Amino acid sequence: MSDHLVRLITRDGMLRAVAAETTLLVEECRHRQQTDPTATIALGRVATAAALMGGLLKGEQRLALIVEGSGPLQRLQAETDAVGRVRATLKVPVAGLPPREGRFDVAGAVGQAGFLHVVKDLGLKEPYRGMVQLATSEIGEDLAYYLATSEQIPSTVALGVELDRDARVAAAGGFLLQLLPGGDPTLVDRLEERLAHLPPTTTLLRQGVAPAAILERLLEEIPTTHLGQIPLTFTCTCNREQVAGVLKLLGAAELDEMLAEQGEATVTCDFCKEPYRFERAELGEIRKGM
Ligand code: ZN
Repeated sequence: MSDHLVRLITRDGMLRAVAAETTLLVEECRHRQQTDPTATIALGRVATAAALMGGLLKGEQRLALIVEGSGPLQRLQAETDAVGRVRATLKVPVAGLPPREGRFDVAGAVGQAGFLHVVKDLGLKEPYRGMVQLATSEIGEDLAYYLATSEQIPSTVALGVELDRDARVAAAGGFLLQLLPGGDPTLVDRLEERLAHLPPTTTLLRQGVAPAAILERLLEEIPTTHLGQIPLTFTCTCNREQVAGVLKLLGAAELDEMLAEQGEATVTCDFCKEPYRFERAELGEIRKGM
């Protein structure tokens, strides 16, 4: 099934839920960033978390999740918008860590000490910025902690990335449950208990259970209203003009040196890894415009 996201709300308006399959999108991130298995899972969780949060955006709103930790991956970032376009990057693509207790050591790769930043461009003058210290560095709990403390919305977040034998992404996805004002706080506890008895999200996805059906299994007898479905895609919003802006930031001296030595410059987008090549004439124009 192709990647997509579904949203629903319980009929009593007390709980909203977003669920997503992100398998192809996370595989695309892995391929573009050339991540090792632990890094693939960490980056896939950040990208899936962003996709889920994107399900709560409207119109032209945009969102970025940034995880900065003391581990070897250093910094992971994912960005999205209200129409399901997601891109993700990380500073160091190789965690180089052995598994811990038979599992990929995502918390070790991210690092125990660090921060989760959430930046939301809501079309206002200044973007909204929130930040929390990393709670477990497993990403899902960290996002739930951010939502509960910074946005005061009790939330449950589940994120999963499973690899195949060739270390490619076999399944990825997750869901987000949020208790809305006036909602019964014990409902979240009941759902978390039920969650503990369900197979992992990636197992369900591999069995062909769609995100909407996963939510149905979880919410079972609770009547819900579906709020629609949007496709999720890896889409990079970079362009030549933006990349030329990056060259300008290097400063006049650096550009003069590039012109004198190589006579050209290649800048690679951090997210999609597409190279942008600037020939001498174009580089000269950028230098002149400074
Ligand atoms: Zn790009």
